[in-house]
Amino acid sequence: MTPETKLETTVKKVERIVAPPPKHWVGDGFNVHGFLPHGPLSAERMSPFFLLDYNSLMTFPPRLEPYGVGPHPHRGFETVTIAYKGKVAHHDSRGNGGVIGEGDVQWMTAGSGLLHKEYHEKERSKTGGPFQMVQLWVNLPAKDKMTEPKYQAITNAEMGRVTLPGGGEVEIIAGEFEGTKGPATTFSPVHLINLKPKKGEKIDLSYPAGYTTAILAIEGSAVLNGDKTLPLNHLALFEREGETLTVEASEDSVLLLMSGEPLNEPIAQYGPFLMNTQEEIMQAIRDFQMGKFGELD
Ligand code: MN
Repeated sequence: MTPETKLETTVKKVERIVAPPPKHWVGDGFNVHGFLPHGPLSAERMSPFFLLDYNSLMTFPPRLEPYGVGPHPHRGFETVTIAYKGKVAHHDSRGNGGVIGEGDVQWMTAGSGLLHKEYHEKERSKTGGPFQMVQLWVNLPAKDKMTEPKYQAITNAEMGRVTLPGGGEVEIIAGEFEGTKGPATTFSPVHLINLKPKKGEKIDLSYPAGYTTAILAIEGSAVLNGDKTLPLNHLALFEREGETLTVEASEDSVLLLMSGEPLNEPIAQYGPFLMNTQEEIMQAIRDFQMGKFGELD
């Protein structure tokens, strides 16, 4: 006889449901709710995630000159841009660039530093139309902050995909879901997943205790852990404690789930630079002023 071993798991409770903050403009192309870092959703609490800008669904009128934001630098982290409606173009001083369409992702590692510009794809700007996107900044561990910049273009077709019993599906950008992996490479453990349940469909999820876990309702709405309502365009933050959570779609929905291991390192930020110390921020500003981030028209 061996004593029965029982694997105890506990529920990751909903810590808070956050309404979309007032919108602000990034350049003239992105009208975003700045969910992070903000109030109780501090940089330390949300690590490894730092900034979350969400352009909820809106319609841009036609314009010849593409909407967007001109050349600016980044150092010390990764920008992850997800296009839900419309098309987003990107060019950087390393010669990387491209256009992502609906459902696609660009995962840019700024690392030691580059310049880039972000704008609506030219032809799409001319016709105007619905636009909806997310930009998430994923912090880099101190040892990787000065890594070589790189660019991962991830089309929707390249994502990991799991079909749910009720007809919905799950798209894995990074990390995994039920053993299916996403294509993005990351520097610390990060799961970034689109849950696309049909109305009434329930999804069971599990992440290690200690991870930072949140869900943004891009389309539709859901009930979390059986009793907490997540309305459209709201963000649910889960407690660090506990492992399991459930999502039940109140209607056909698209829910962006992020879960990652906190870096637990000092955070120093100034504008587009995200480092560990004030000295490193000063160095980034000097390097930028000396043209070390490259050139971009
Ligand atoms: Mn940028």
